[in-house]
Amino acid sequence: TSIDDPSSTGHEQVVFCQDTQTGLRAIIGIYSTALGPALGGTRFYPYASEEAALADVLDLSRGMAYKNALAGLDLGGGKAVIWGDPDQLKSEPLLRAYGRFVESLNGRYYTACDVGTYVADMDVIARETRYVTGRSVEHGGAGDSSVLTAWGVFQGMRAAAEHVWGAPTLNGRRVGVAGLGKVGKHLTRHLLDDHAEVVATDVDPRAREWVRANHPQVELVDAAALVAADIDVYAPCALGGALDDDTVPALRAKVVAGAANNQLAHPGIEKLLADRGILYAPDYVVNAGGVIQVADEIEGFNFERAKLRATRIYDTTRQILRLADDEGVPPAVAADRLAERRMAEVGRLRTIH
Ligand code: NAD
Repeated sequence: TSIDDPSSTGHEQVVFCQDTQTGLRAIIGIYSTALGPALGGTRFYPYASEEAALADVLDLSRGMAYKNALAGLDLGGGKAVIWGDPDQLKSEPLLRAYGRFVESLNGRYYTACDVGTYVADMDVIARETRYVTGRSVEHGGAGDSSVLTAWGVFQGMRAAAEHVWGAPTLNGRRVGVAGLGKVGKHLTRHLLDDHAEVVATDVDPRAREWVRANHPQVELVDAAALVAADIDVYAPCALGGALDDDTVPALRAKVVAGAANNQLAHPGIEKLLADRGILYAPDYVVNAGGVIQVADEIEGFNFERAKLRATRIYDTTRQILRLADDEGVPPAVAADRLAERRMAEVGRLRTIH
């Protein structure tokens, strides 16, 4: 994102917050409230500079607008960053000061967890503001969002499988799960229930031990071997940037669908995937189960209702893959177009003339 000209980024509002007593420096970015209040997490991170923090919040809040639109939520896109090292700076007074800034926006922005912030932090922020989700179960929250994230990824993967092989199932397919963390573990279970063969990798020996103990039928390999393995589907569930100039040429899978955020290492990778005949189910479409889960808290958390919404990731992915074929563009481009369409259409209904 270019920040030389802040008015050029298309954001509705960017709020700089400072509390000298607690050392809080935060930026709240609201990209769009076309669909409703902006929802997106708070990232607590030691940015190298204020410019870096601003660039990140502008990118992330825009991304949330697209993600929430495709998740079918009546919520716009926003995000916040707290600039500093959470290990040194995070304190109850700081989080409370931040909560008062969120409250001052009167519901234009709802916050939630992101890198560096946790459910317990949301409980503290909630002492100062109503506009916070991702709270603990004891406080009426949805708890661990990886449950529906994994369910949604599985639904998106089913849609991709249908697009390529004709049936919405992973039955008999070999699926490579890269990263057996919170999401990867749940996803592995859904895949095995669907009678897929799972090959997996994780750098953490504890995660590998968990698989050996709970699912001995899963084959464990190292990360580089998984990319080049004879698999039908590759599911990045670890860090961002999994699809780059080295991994894409090595891939033998026909489908990529996984939970990790920002899987495409740089613009242009979506074209490289398409040229190699690999169907990429856009990350922000298939991993929206987590935001669906926390968004549900705003109405009073109901797991079944949230699960139903996450199940619709199957329909949305299907629609995007068809649109991509019809318009001759990669799925990532089709997803952006569909999100922009919804923001414009619903946005028009909410405009007061
Ligand atoms: P996690 O930290 O619980 O799990 C990540 C796992 O990946 C860990 O077990 C880690 O050891 C492993 N890993 C790290 N580097 C690796 C490598 N190079 N090769 C193989 N394994 C590696 O995180 P999570 O909550 O399971 O999330 C996974 C991904 O999904 C992240 O990118 C996250 O941003 C994204 N995501 C998560 C949610 C959610 O609700 N948890 C929602 C949307 C997106």
